[in-house]
Amino acid sequence: MENQNLKKETYIAEDGLLYCAKCHTPCEKVLPHPLEKGKLWRVHLMCRCEREAYEREKAEREKQEFEERVQRNRMICFHEKEMYGWTFANDDGSVPVMEKARAYVEHWEDVRKKKIGLILWGEVGTGKTYIAAAVANALLDQGFRVLMKDFTEISNISAFDADEYVRSLSSYDLLILDDLGAERTSEFAMQNVFNVVNRRWESGKPLIVTTNKTVDELKGVEDLTLKRINDRILAMCTPIYVGGSSKRRVKADENFKNLGVIFGKGGYKHE
Ligand SMILES: [Zn+2]
Repeated sequence: MENQNLKKETYIAEDGLLYCAKCHTPCEKVLPHPLEKGKLWRVHLMCRCEREAYEREKAEREKQEFEERVQRNRMICFHEKEMYGWTFANDDGSVPVMEKARAYVEHWEDVRKKKIGLILWGEVGTGKTYIAAAVANALLDQGFRVLMKDFTEISNISAFDADEYVRSLSSYDLLILDDLGAERTSEFAMQNVFNVVNRRWESGKPLIVTTNKTVDELKGVEDLTLKRINDRILAMCTPIYVGGSSKRRVKADENFKNLGVIFGKGGYKHE
């Protein structure tokens, strides 16, 4: 820009001010001199083409900064690079209930306000983690901060930094906990999981959980800490069945009607 200024062609117009020869708008304005009374002070002004170039560069810079931030957030969100590509766009159609996950993202403002979480449940290999990652990627693209963790990982936090860790998890716009039921079941491990889930509950921010367990299995656990964990999750998250068998399908759709109610009339397409 400096160099451009030096080379810039100007002329003095009838009003005595310097004008840009390219856009014919003033390159300076005249003010009363701040120190010497009665004298005038010529101040440089961006002409229109200069100002437009400045705005373009600024927008470009902001766009680049945004993209860098999104990229950083994506690296924080996923522990495997492969998951960067688990998006709605790359979905090959083999994963069921993808439309519902899309709607979740489309209604994100509502989801946040109403603190709507999801339990994506179903057998192994039905694409639950893919769906959760696609939701994460779509929200990351919009600049939101998302974190995806395994239950196993959060149950393994050391006693030393457990508090700090639990606190840090509550700062994300969306927390996704993968594979509920696979975590270690020592009392300490379960207490860690409870603390994470409970903190999320207190923060009033949404949580998505994936699990191979059925909703009945989640409800029916005997261990007291595990029951507290599952009760909290069931209170925060609407179950969506991800999978095949028709018998379970009916049940899943029943569950889904509740979600339709939450999203309100017309806001959500129910198949
Ligand atoms: Zn100009």
